[in-house]
Amino acid sequence: MKLQSRVLILYLCIALLVLVLIGGVLPTTLHTQNLNTISRNSIDQLKHIDFALSNFIGSAKEDVLTLSLDDDVRTTDDAGFTNFLNASEETFRYSINDKEQKIIDTFKEYQTAHPYVSSVYMGREKGSFVRSYPRARPTAYDPRDRPWYILAKEHPGQVSITDPYTAVTTPDVNVGIVTPLAYPNGTIYGVVGEDITLVNLTSYISRFNMGHDDEIILVDKNGMVLTSRNSSLLFGNISDLLQDQTPTFLATDEGVLVLNGSYLMYYTSPELGWKIGEIVPFSSIERQINNSIVQILLVVLCALILLSAITLIALNYTVIRPLSNLTEVSRKIAETGDLDQTIEMGGAGEIGSLARSFKAMVEKIHAEEQRRQLVLAELKGHRDHLEEIVAERTRELSEANLHLQELDRLKSLFIASMSHELRTPLNSIIGFTGIMANGYAGEINAEQKKQLGMVQDSARHLLALINDVIDISKIEAGKIEAGVSTFNFDDVLREVENTLGPAAREQGLVLHVERGVPLSITSDERRVKQIITNLVSNAIKFTDKGRVDVSVERKGTVVEVHVRDTGIGIEKEDLEKLFRPFARVMVPGRLVEGTGLGLYLSKKLARFLGGDITVESELHKGSVFTFSFPVIYKKQEDI
Ligand code: ADP
Repeated sequence: MKLQSRVLILYLCIALLVLVLIGGVLPTTLHTQNLNTISRNSIDQLKHIDFALSNFIGSAKEDVLTLSLDDDVRTTDDAGFTNFLNASEETFRYSINDKEQKIIDTFKEYQTAHPYVSSVYMGREKGSFVRSYPRARPTAYDPRDRPWYILAKEHPGQVSITDPYTAVTTPDVNVGIVTPLAYPNGTIYGVVGEDITLVNLTSYISRFNMGHDDEIILVDKNGMVLTSRNSSLLFGNISDLLQDQTPTFLATDEGVLVLNGSYLMYYTSPELGWKIGEIVPFSSIERQINNSIVQILLVVLCALILLSAITLIALNYTVIRPLSNLTEVSRKIAETGDLDQTIEMGGAGEIGSLARSFKAMVEKIHAEEQRRQLVLAELKGHRDHLEEIVAERTRELSEANLHLQELDRLKSLFIASMSHELRTPLNSIIGFTGIMANGYAGEINAEQKKQLGMVQDSARHLLALINDVIDISKIEAGKIEAGVSTFNFDDVLREVENTLGPAAREQGLVLHVERGVPLSITSDERRVKQIITNLVSNAIKFTDKGRVDVSVERKGTVVEVHVRDTGIGIEKEDLEKLFRPFARVMVPGRLVEGTGLGLYLSKKLARFLGGDITVESELHKGSVFTFSFPVIYKKQEDI
């Protein structure tokens, strides 16, 4: 999924979460708040109604007062006025004189001008009763007994409002607004007043639209419902509605009561003493709350959508687009392998530095790739010419080989020449000096004999050296051949003992060679003897006193010859040098004779025979050289 879609979904989820949270918390909060607000508003409205009602009643009072000051109305000459004291429906006939008619006209005119007034009337102490319109039924009637008359008389000099009372001849319930007519001395001679039928009052109050599915009720101080659209409540007692909350209602000036399915907000008119109430169904408030919630949620939703849009646009410019560019470039590189791409730098911040790092990386890889291509091209060139190169090298190699073969031929020629050209004169020198030293060629003195001896020694030394060099070069050139024969090893040991015994004795040494062991060997007898002779003559050479012991040991298919001496011994660090060519271990105060090739040659010969030479030695105590070789010779591939 694309980053943009992911961010969008994330935003939608957050928005949904916010809406659910708000939707969860709002109803309770709003319910309480709304109820408070609605009750406050409602009571404010009720105050307005009270104000209007008080004005209405106030102006009615003023009107009644004005009527009571009317000269015609105030007349004391009321003897001829209509009275119903002894009236009977069947016999009663109106006989209205001019004076009374004038008052009736005034009353009528007034009533017409005041639509909520149901009747305007006047009662007199003498029992007469004048009204704006004729009574429905002319029954016996004494105004002086009526509550309105009694109330007015009880409050002289005032305009009073009666409690609601039922009309005598109609089902109307009225409130009367009445004031007494009095002589200047204060004696009351009549009462003038008007009735407001409560049905009219209800329609008056209904004009006040409170904006809910509500109902306005008017309740007098005794709890009687004066106005209500609900006819079952009208003129009944409010306790029918409020039940046990009635005392609270009557005792408090204003408040809110929870009824079954509705609220009652009420306010007590300070002027009239009546309670004006508004009954609001729960559903009406719930609807308002729901409306508020829907409004708030809509606003939040719009805000979230706006926020999401702005954030997405900003994200698009700062993050998504640069990232998409990078993704596109890396996709192209992955698909085509073409590193030559234009990478946008992506501005500041982390994305910018990512883009810069990416660019630097791609450039580096690009450079490396170019270098690799170059190397590859070079390698390809080499590969293409590999056969030529191999042919060239092979040619060089065969040339070198030829050269080597030539050298080898020259070396062999040299060795053959040496063997002939050097050994022949040396043998002559040794022979002739021997002849001269023995005096066969004439008398010589002692000094001459000594000098000749030295010449002979040097010649022998040189001959030995030449023999060794020739042997070594033959071995190294692989030109040595084993003269294999089966021989008795004891014979070899006897010959060594015979050859070197005199020299040992001359040095005052004991040479003991282990003899008498029957051992048949199939190998190169001459070489075996040469090696043992070299080891024994070295032992004699490097032993001043004591003995030299030669012992033989057969270990399976191998013979071991141990040459043990009590000589000067060799230091540990010199041991490994022994078998190198021209190795001579220097011993202070001792002139070391020999070529330094003996051990080197012996080891090579031992290996040629399939064996080896090892040494163990302790300085000033002596050495043991061990020559081991197979009982039956087997040709060695590599020496
Ligand atoms: P060379 O033919 O001159 O005797 P070698 O190769 O036989 O030479 O010996 C090399 C050196 O090894 C000698 O110069 C000597 O120092 C040491 N060496 C050989 N054998 C013994 C031995 N038995 N005791 C002490 N030193 C020895």
